[in-house]
Amino acid sequence: MALLAQYIWIDGTTPSQELRGKTRVIKSGNGLLPSTSYDDVNDIPIDQFPEWGADGSSTNQAGGANSDIKLVPVRAVRDPFRPGGFLVLCEVYHGNGEVHETNHRARLREALDRGAASVDGWFGFEQEYTLMTTTGSPLGFPENGYPGPQGPYYCAVGTSNISGRNFYEEFINASLAAGLEVTGYNWEVMPGQAEVQIFGDALAGPDHLWLCRWLLHRTSENHNATVSFDPKPATGDWNGAGMHTNFSTKDMRREGGYEAIITACDAIGTKVEEHLAVYGDGYQRRLTGAHETASYAEFSYGAADRTASIRIPRHVEAERKGYLEDRRPNANACPYQVADRMLRTVCGIEG
Ligand code: ADP
Ligand code: MN
Ligand code: MN
Ligand code: MN
Repeated sequence: MALLAQYIWIDGTTPSQELRGKTRVIKSGNGLLPSTSYDDVNDIPIDQFPEWGADGSSTNQAGGANSDIKLVPVRAVRDPFRPGGFLVLCEVYHGNGEVHETNHRARLREALDRGAASVDGWFGFEQEYTLMTTTGSPLGFPENGYPGPQGPYYCAVGTSNISGRNFYEEFINASLAAGLEVTGYNWEVMPGQAEVQIFGDALAGPDHLWLCRWLLHRTSENHNATVSFDPKPATGDWNGAGMHTNFSTKDMRREGGYEAIITACDAIGTKVEEHLAVYGDGYQRRLTGAHETASYAEFSYGAADRTASIRIPRHVEAERKGYLEDRRPNANACPYQVADRMLRTVCGIEG
């Protein structure tokens, strides 16, 4: 029997990278069973997927004269749209074997190898996104003018408050069937806007988030809608779309870890520009100081403070241990770059 493996990679589109993919037909043999045979996607043998190539000149990753890029499989989950098939996330290399500049996962691995692995970082990404019509306005916005102001839409139910229910439910089913490390889903503050939370270690968290983005786009094809990660998809008095990043180290999670959380916040405060540089294109449009954001120009942290750059959740303050929430990353940020920056700052890794 032939198995379908959707090879997925992150391209060279600027200012925000996009996803690409192509399908490889793999003869099932001793090494690989249909994906539905693996209860735990971590048991899928990644080494059974051969390296592959693609035309980098069509993905902003190579010139036409030397166009081959190399795709190296690094993580596989189930493909919910092709029963038995796989989604295979790949890192990108130049034809000569060097790490491609667009391969931010490799840089994150380097930070982990240089000491960051020892802090056992965990990441919880709150991926917000906006469902749009194919003509480019948020779902739920009338043809002319605007819907009623923000207030009733967040975590709502009912026809007057929800747009895109069928998409949303199909995406929930798809992401769970895939085996993604999802912890929850909610409707957001603006019509058409929603959130999904992904949780994992420094590599699994970002890997699963990029695969989650693939599934958001893929599901949208069935609903004549598009998914936007624009940080400010509607101008005016509307919340933007972020990717709040919840982060902890083993020192933060142990009894009395609050001190390590404060130390980390102070360290992040010494690298404001470096962090903003990888928090997604257009963060200035979103981090205005209004709409549950802190101005990008001022760094602050505080317990239970949703107007601060970094919030320490109230229960974390009460328990004196746990994690911090950096509220600044945009919905369009690269989670590899965010995780890499966070770990380098907190672990004091230069370069
Ligand atoms: P909010 O109240 O900001 O909307 P959410 O519930 O949407 O919070 O997201 C919180 C995220 O934090 C979840 O993805 C959760 O898995 C994650 N999280 C919980 N504990 C930790 C931890 N110790 N380290 C990192 N992330 C964590
Ligand atoms: Mn949330
Ligand atoms: Mn949210
Ligand atoms: Mn949050």
